[in-house]
This record gives sequence, C-alpha cells and structure tokens, in this order.
Amino acid sequence: MSKKILIVGGGIIGICSAYYLSKSGHDVTIIDKYGMNSGASYVNAGYLSPGHIIPLAAPGVIKQGLKWMFNSSSPFYIEPRINVDFFKWLYAFNKSCSDNNVKSSIVPIIEMSLLSQELLKDIKKDNDMGFHYDQKGLLMLCKTEKSLEKEKEVVDLAVQNGLRAKILNQNEIKTIEPNINIDSIGAAYFYCDHHTTPAELISELKDFIQKKGVKCFTHTEIESFRIENNNIKSVNISNQNLGFDEYVMSAGTWTSELCKKLGIKLLLQAGKGYSVNHSSKTEISCPAILVEPKCAITPMNGFTRYSGTMEISSINDRIRKNRVNAICDAVESFYPSVKIPEIDRNDAGYGFRPISADGVPYIGRTKNLKNVIIATGHAMMGWSMSTGTGKIVSEIVDQKQTSINIERFNPNRKF
Ligand SMILES: Cc1cc2nc3c(=O)[nH]c(=O)nc-3n(C[C@H](O)[C@H](O)[C@H](O)COP(=O)(O)OP(=O)(O)OC[C@H]3O[C@@H](n4cnc5c(N)ncnc54)[C@H](O)[C@@H]3O)c2cc1C
Repeated sequence: MSKKILIVGGGIIGICSAYYLSKSGHDVTIIDKYGMNSGASYVNAGYLSPGHIIPLAAPGVIKQGLKWMFNSSSPFYIEPRINVDFFKWLYAFNKSCSDNNVKSSIVPIIEMSLLSQELLKDIKKDNDMGFHYDQKGLLMLCKTEKSLEKEKEVVDLAVQNGLRAKILNQNEIKTIEPNINIDSIGAAYFYCDHHTTPAELISELKDFIQKKGVKCFTHTEIESFRIENNNIKSVNISNQNLGFDEYVMSAGTWTSELCKKLGIKLLLQAGKGYSVNHSSKTEISCPAILVEPKCAITPMNGFTRYSGTMEISSINDRIRKNRVNAICDAVESFYPSVKIPEIDRNDAGYGFRPISADGVPYIGRTKNLKNVIIATGHAMMGWSMSTGTGKIVSEIVDQKQTSINIERFNPNRKF
C-alpha cells in the first residue's frame, strides 16, 4: 500500500531513504531547513569503509579527549560547556567507552557497511549513474611502532570477522602507492574499503529521486507538530497543516532538537570536522588515514581532499584555522612532496557528524510515537552506511524483514 511519507532532513541519509521509499511505491516528500547542498554529506572523506570496525566510543577515547582538551590544534577535542543535553550525552558516552561496546558493535557495523557498499554498486549499475566509485582499499599509515601495533590488533579483528586486511611494510606500501614518497614506518591496508566523490554522488542521487517524483523543499522547516493517539497527525509548515502517514527523522546532528519537540529523548552531539580540497594535481592515488594525527586523504574525481578533526562542540559556523592548518601540515609531513597552498587552506569546508552516545547509529521506530522512524547518529560512518540505512528505513515502513539484524541500532536503547 502506498503511503505518504515526510522525510525531515535531506542529507545523504534522508536522500537514500527517499530513494528506497519511492522505489517501493510511496509518495515521498523531503524538507530541509537549509539548501541541501552543504554540511557533513558534502565535505566528508567519501570512504565506504567496512574496515572502520571500531565505534567512536571505545576504551581510552575520553582519556585522550581530556588530554587534548587544551591543545587547540588536536585532532579530537571536547569543548567544555554548560549544557544539560551535553552533560547527559557525555555521561552516557563515557559509560559506552568500553570493551563491551566495541565487541557488541563490530558485527552490526560490518554488516551495515558491507550491505551499503553492495547497494550503492547496484544503484550505480541499475540506473546507469556516472558518479565516481573506486575500489582501491584504504591505507592506515603509521609513523610510530606503538600505532602500528594498535593497527595490527584492528587488522586481526577485521580478519577474524571476515574482512580482507593486512599489515604492510614500507616496500609493500610502495607497491600500492608507487608514484609518491610516504614518510611512514608501515600501514594497515584494508582491501575491503572503497571511496567516492561525495558532492558528485549526492547530486546525482538527488536529481534522480526528484525525477522519480520525490518532492524536495529546501529552506523549509516544521513549525509545530500535532500529535493524536501516539501518532503525528500533521505538521505545520509555512502556515499550512500537512498530514503524512509516516515521518522519517534524518536531520543529522539537528535530529535531537526535533525529537525533543516530540518528547523523544535522543542523546546526540555534533562532531565538527573540516576538509580542504587540493585544487592542483597530486600523485596520491590510494586513500589513506594518517593514524597519529587522524587525518583522511582521498583522491577524488579531479582533486585530492584532506579531512579531519573531531570537535565535539556546539553547532556553530566558526572555522578554526589552526585545526585546518594542523590537517594540512600533517599531510605534508607524511607526503613530503605535497604542498597545500594557502588559497586551498583558506577555502576549508566543515560539517557536523551526528554522534550518538555509543558511536553506533539510531535506526528504527521510537517507542513514543507509532509513525516516527529515526535514522541518524552515524558519527564518522554515515557515508559508509547511507544506502543500507535508507533500505532499512523503507523495509521498516513496508513491515518487511530487514536486510540485516537492526537490534543494535535500536533508537530506544538505554545508556
Ligand atoms: C570531515 C568529515 C569527514 C567524514 N568522512 C566520512 C567518511 O569518509 N565516511 C563516512 O562514512 N562518513 C564520513 N563522515 C560522516 C558523514 O559525513 C556523516 O555521518 C553523514 O554525512 C551524516 O549524514 P546525515 O544525512 O545524517 O546528516 P547531514 O549530512 O548533516 O544532513 C542533515 C540534513 O538535515 C537538515 N536539517 C537540519 N535541521 C533540520 C530541520 N530542523 N528540519 C529539516 N532539515 C533539517 C540539514 O540542513 C542537512 O541537510 C565525515 C564527516 C565529516 C564532517
């Protein structure tokens, strides 16, 4: 049965949900408070990484965050501030930084990322789309033995869980990246990881769904909700009352504010990150993460992108130039022949990763309201998990068995 569905938030998660819902025959509308042309879904590193098996909430993360709190150019930063929602999130996040959290997350993370890779390849093939999609793997480059040892542990875990990964020495790195010198002592190499050029992919998907009848309204937001019998009956948008059968909340970092208006508690914080597009050609051909400074390098279609920093902060437009410079300087230190011009550094973009309280997404129906589905909280894995999330949202609406077990993503879970 065809339903009328409102998707609130048109980033990659909202767009992928719209793709599968309209494919399934539903009448889909997306509203977005901004222009559907900026933010995390545009500035990200473009990785589709089943190899990222460890959630953000892992042992040692809070300790590291506290250590880096007073270093304004550190890759991970928790901005201290007096805010009840932030304290609640921090308390729950701290509790989640445990071996148990990691153990219970690895399989669902891998399943969701692998599902998403397959679905994205199908979308590209079935609809003859031209967006950039590359399967070159991902290098985790290390400068110290200590980091390489840690990477080895992740590789072992990945292999135990069925992924293809291995530790490489300097000569082996050279075979993967022959045309440029890299200053590192070794790397973990995840054969299973793929990469894309985000703005290209999302624009093509957006055009496609609109041609299929999905209505997109930008610079539009919900002014109020009318709730009856544990359902959203209608929403007020631009002084009009509009009713839908189902509501998908996929407004990224902003979803918790929306949920608050509905009486739904969703622990979520913004994890700000920056990226710089290097306009002149580089010889970098394989994506890489610089392990110690936590920066990502992606050879995209026509340019190379450098991204990084995780600033758990309030939502603001401030670009901290010292953090942008820290990303660029780290790249130049690992790739001594690369020089990133000031003009590119000055043009850095930013976005907010939606960070759940355990680093694992919230996907599913809420217990409070029967016709509301939450799809957010993907932190640094939202690009990797986007198509899988969209497919699962449509399966929930259609009351079908979901493609993978989604118990771990339950938005009603306790912390
Ligand atoms: C620097 C950086 C690098 C990253 N690299 C990767 C990577 O390589 N791989 C990976 O998997 N992930 C990566 N991520 C994370 C990934 O980009 C995010 O998880 C993902 O984009 C989140 O998508 P989203 O649709 O949930 O949120 P968003 O992209 O933030 O979209 C939310 C949308 O909701 C809209 N909105 C806000 N408020 C409202 C409202 N009240 N009503 C209606 N609409 C509203 C916003 O305008 C926005 O369009 C990276 C993120 C950053 C910042």
